[in-house]
Amino acid sequence: METGRHKSQAVILRRTNYGEADLIVNFLTPESGKVGGMAKHGRKSVKRFGNVLTSLSLVELEFTASRNRELVRLERGELLKNYESITRDVERMALAGYVLELVDGLCAPLDPVPAVFRLLLWCLDRFDSGRQPEEAAFIFQIRILALTGFGPSISGCPVCGQPALAGQDLVLNPEQGGVACKTCVPSGFPISPGTIKLMDLALTLDLEKIDRVRTAPRVLDEAGPFLRAYITYTLGHELKSSRVIEQLKRRKLKG
Ligand SMILES: [Zn+2]
Repeated sequence: METGRHKSQAVILRRTNYGEADLIVNFLTPESGKVGGMAKHGRKSVKRFGNVLTSLSLVELEFTASRNRELVRLERGELLKNYESITRDVERMALAGYVLELVDGLCAPLDPVPAVFRLLLWCLDRFDSGRQPEEAAFIFQIRILALTGFGPSISGCPVCGQPALAGQDLVLNPEQGGVACKTCVPSGFPISPGTIKLMDLALTLDLEKIDRVRTAPRVLDEAGPFLRAYITYTLGHELKSSRVIEQLKRRKLKG
């Protein structure tokens, strides 16, 4: 990133208290990718930051990058859009936490991928509008994995080379990088051809057209556990918010 003053749209991914009043934040921007910054008096300066550093929102941040510092210095922030309705719903809040943690985990610092930023805003908008948040989370996970170079392979079996939809029984296996024949790789998440087709559609369709995709509950039930396991395997650790989602799911099943 060039040294000097910057002004950019951003979404705060992670915040850590520092000292009495300061805040260290990771945020995603379209132009600079993931950035780490220090906000002096970030927890207390209502004048400079309002609540933009502590709320789930799309913001405009002004910050200064200097040559010898790893963290940029946050100067001020302005709220552009508040995702307030997400914060009122425990399930959508858990999914949003998962999505932000995933962006933080998958994106390399200062490596701009504007499509990831657009995807994040798309996903938060879907969570905010309350329409099928799990469907949005499914599409988000598949696409961000592909955009950051970690996309699962769903075209064919890595052992025998047979195309995925040749009529054989299939599994999804994180260690194998995606789909495989059940006879070649006996362990993994059982998966139906319909789910593979939906995963392919979620990957390849333009974001503008993706709202036409409708995923049956079965697709989410099959793909969801695989994606969380695949992400754990890819990152080398489980996302904290992944456990929250599992707990909520169990509670829902118990009714
Ligand atoms: Zn095979």
